[in-house]
Amino acid sequence: MSELKIYNSLHRQKEVFTSLYPGHVGMYVCGPTVSGESHLGHARPYITFDVVYRYLQYLGYKVRYVRNITDAGHFEEEGREAEDKIAKRAQLEKMEPMELVQKYTNLFHWAFHRFNCLEPSIEPTATGHIIEQIEMIKTIMEKGYAYERNGSVYFDVKKYAETHDYGILSGRVLEDMLESSNRELENQEEKINNVDFALWKNAPPEHLMRWPSPWGEGFPGWHIECSAMSSKYLGKQFDIHGGGMDLQFPHHECEIAQSEIAHGELMARYWMHNNMITINGRKMGKAYNNTIKLTELFTGNHHLLERGYSPMTIRFFVLQTHYRSTLDFSNEALQAAEKGLHRLWSAYEVLQKLTYTPANGQPVNEELDKQVRDWCHECHEFLNDDFNTAKVLANLFELAPVINSIKGGQVKMHELSEETFQLLQKTWSTFLIEILGLQPETLNTDNSKLDGVIQLLIEMRKEAKSRKDYAASDKIRNQLLAVGIQLKDEKDGSMTYSIQ
Ligand code: ZN
Repeated sequence: MSELKIYNSLHRQKEVFTSLYPGHVGMYVCGPTVSGESHLGHARPYITFDVVYRYLQYLGYKVRYVRNITDAGHFEEEGREAEDKIAKRAQLEKMEPMELVQKYTNLFHWAFHRFNCLEPSIEPTATGHIIEQIEMIKTIMEKGYAYERNGSVYFDVKKYAETHDYGILSGRVLEDMLESSNRELENQEEKINNVDFALWKNAPPEHLMRWPSPWGEGFPGWHIECSAMSSKYLGKQFDIHGGGMDLQFPHHECEIAQSEIAHGELMARYWMHNNMITINGRKMGKAYNNTIKLTELFTGNHHLLERGYSPMTIRFFVLQTHYRSTLDFSNEALQAAEKGLHRLWSAYEVLQKLTYTPANGQPVNEELDKQVRDWCHECHEFLNDDFNTAKVLANLFELAPVINSIKGGQVKMHELSEETFQLLQKTWSTFLIEILGLQPETLNTDNSKLDGVIQLLIEMRKEAKSRKDYAASDKIRNQLLAVGIQLKDEKDGSMTYSIQ
């Protein structure tokens, strides 16, 4: 089998992967900001890196996968000051900031369980690592690459760029960045250069999330959390750092700069970035009013959706395109994915039920036998070639008609050798289920019937309550909960449910 090659954004080329510590891989992926619900755009990185995580383990590596939760911090976009999303949203929803953060963390976990994403080995939070962030900022200051202004601390990008390549990932040129000035924006006057970024921000009196520091009460800059937490759990240098392409600049450039100054070495050896999801050819965002939250995607409750799509359909849709290509979302594309996935499951189910029957002296069809073996072996080659899940799925689609023909009798079982037949069975369960992480959706294949049953039970519970038969109403709720269906009383007296 060939060696695993990864496209390394750092050198803009595919490179043979070697782990820093033989047999062990450290992987860090930038996690969600839990100031709101996850949307379609979040589905791609976490599904992509879930497959990377699964495949590395399949190859025999022991992987420590760290994915953070951003539950505090200062957000800058393209050098502009951005609002404190968490505090603002908490005020809007009349919640404690940590209450809000918990709510959206839970929702994130719920959605990604439905996508069948494996949990990371460690899921550190920014608020749980304030001390580590402060320590790292102190080190950067001691080394002369950060300065304090009015209780805030900024990283000196221009000084860093004198001896390091700032823009190494994104290909941006510092001189160009220095020219485009954002000085009219709030607080920019504190910075020596507009390209400098915050390591720590002084908290104004109205700021809710604040911590004591050597520079007064404040809160960390956004970028510093990933540098602090990755080094704490994976060491100063580790193997793979992943995230969406939109994070290359400024977030990942800043992570590299901070870590390199604090630790004197390049933080990650391989940088992987997934491309973006567009919606009907357009970038997703507020400007186009086309952001689709995951809950809306599952239920179909969004003006751009004709109906809801199951988590496995979305997972399959994401994996049908190589992670570095753009992926355009549309109802037609999702419906085609749904059909495609259905075809694969039917073939898989047929294959599971087939048992090999010996040839009785009849010859193997050498040509077909070789073709099937080649298609199976290629699946490994494709994943070794920078995780090309799209090509793996294409090969499974080539194999599906062969399986159906064996069932239909057009191809006789003995036309394949026993060895090839076993390879075929193994390839399907290994790639479809173990590595691509697809799973049959028993609940979702017949959602309308299930919904009907639950609505009936909700009705029965209401009736029990109205005749004050609390034992019966509690029994319905608890028994449903035992099978993973949670009922929820809404403020308007209605009742909703969620499937765990
Ligand atoms: Zn990060």
